[in-house]
Amino acid sequence: MNSTQNYPGNLFVVAAPSGAGKSSLVNALMEVDSRLAHSVSHTTRAPRGQEVHGREYYFVSNAQFEQMISQDAFLEWAHVHGNRYGTSKHAIEERIAQGGDIILEIDYQGAIQVKKIFANAVLIFILPPSWEELKSRLQRRGEDSTDVIEQRLINAAKEVAQVREFDFVIINERFELALFDLKSIVHAQRLKYSAQRRTKADTFRNLHIS
Ligand code: 5GP
Repeated sequence: MNSTQNYPGNLFVVAAPSGAGKSSLVNALMEVDSRLAHSVSHTTRAPRGQEVHGREYYFVSNAQFEQMISQDAFLEWAHVHGNRYGTSKHAIEERIAQGGDIILEIDYQGAIQVKKIFANAVLIFILPPSWEELKSRLQRRGEDSTDVIEQRLINAAKEVAQVREFDFVIINERFELALFDLKSIVHAQRLKYSAQRRTKADTFRNLHIS
């Protein structure tokens, strides 16, 4: 793949600091939007709770991850919170070739890498409404110790500083409103001239629009 390659579907990339509600928003969008496919990333972190290999992630060893890097199998990869995560080319190539829309839920470093490869990718950043709210969401989630929460907040400050690299920003204060924002971005992207041209080629032909 190279940066000039055009692809028929829309590629959405969503990033956010942990606790901002990214996964819940993307999952809620997926439930109502059958045109969107979610790519399954590879990670070197261990599965949590009910996570299933091949569903939330492909859980791989450091050696397997290294091997994939040396085989140039990743579209992008990054170190996040002490582990490595990557989007395999395989995970999105097939879908792209079919013209379907894809949503990647990855960290900001990965999002910026994707934009360099796919200039048309739509980068969406989800912000929490305040630091107090982010901290209390991380505490309520009950997944992490106090130390880990402090580390996540330090990381979050660095992450939100990258928001200027993104095309769209959603402030997730109320879930339903943030979901509406996310749906609106996806919908507006599909209405762009270039996207309509691709997906409604027959209509354009019938209207004799060259
Ligand atoms: P978690 O371990 O909580 O599932 O994810 C930690 C962070 O890694 C999240 O910000 C998540 O979006 C990000 N992440 C998940 N998959 C990928 C990926 O394939 N590439 C990159 N760069 N980040 C990812």
